Amino acid sequence: MASSSHPLRVLILGGTTEALALGRALENMSDLHGIFSLAGITPSPHLPYIETRQGGFGGIEGLATYLHAQEIGAVIDATHPFAAQMSRNAVAACAQTGTPLLRLQRPGWQPSPDDDWIIVPDIDAATAALGATPRRAFLTTGRKDLAPFCAAPQHHYLIRSIVAPDPASLPPDHTILLQRPPFTRESETRLMREHRVDILVTKDAGSDATSPKLAAARDLGLPVVMIARPTLPPARTVTTVHEAIDWLRSLSHAGTRRDV
Ligand code: NAP
Repeated sequence: MASSSHPLRVLILGGTTEALALGRALENMSDLHGIFSLAGITPSPHLPYIETRQGGFGGIEGLATYLHAQEIGAVIDATHPFAAQMSRNAVAACAQTGTPLLRLQRPGWQPSPDDDWIIVPDIDAATAALGATPRRAFLTTGRKDLAPFCAAPQHHYLIRSIVAPDPASLPPDHTILLQRPPFTRESETRLMREHRVDILVTKDAGSDATSPKLAAARDLGLPVVMIARPTLPPARTVTTVHEAIDWLRSLSHAGTRRDV
């Protein structure tokens, strides 16, 4: 059984507000030792006051080696719903090492009757959904998913990103906005009006911090190209930090800490 002298060592794969909230919740829990991991791509990230690490593990093998070396007793995959590679690696490495894994993932957004959503499976389909007629598209898909829009250079793109995108990935007619969420319905409406946006393109992130753009699009009567979440291998999944803590506590109390 994990005791205060041997707390359960928990690797949190971060990158979302839920991951940060979980990390913060673990700050004062003596039976759970959290290690907060980020890919290391966002400058000056918000961090909890627990052990942190940044940078990739080196694929499935690298993660399996890390889990073993660090005597990790549980992994919480709280990465972004579109961080599919990391989530797949977590499933494989945890299976390989026998480490309990929980996915903490917020639910996807749901359209209301007043919404005009075009749901597409991926970025290429989102590009095609903009059509042949030139439009003014607001892209909030992240800086790594811009290159496919070069295939539709007839549109003007308002591109919002936390970190400046690679200039080589940009479609010719664009405006860049460097901004970090949260946003409000009022500011999103103002922004879309100012830039004369006529269609919004987004991933189904499900985050409250970025959902005001959907309400703004609804208010302005604009269509939304909604990119569906990637399919992930099955894993035990919860949607709230509270449930994740309950699961960790049950593991801790059951004494499933690995003694490697
Ligand atoms: P990804 O394609 O699934 O991951 C690419 C690689 O980055 C992984 O294979 C892993 O490298 C490393 N990595 C990702 N998350 C990591 C973490 N938490 N700790 C350590 N290494 C990590 O993910 P991504 O789309 O590049 O996203 C990177 C990070 O940004 C994630 O933490 C994600 O939650 C966050 N994020 C992503 C999006 C999005 O739309 N994709 C949006 C907002 C935030 P190794 O194989 O070397 O271990």
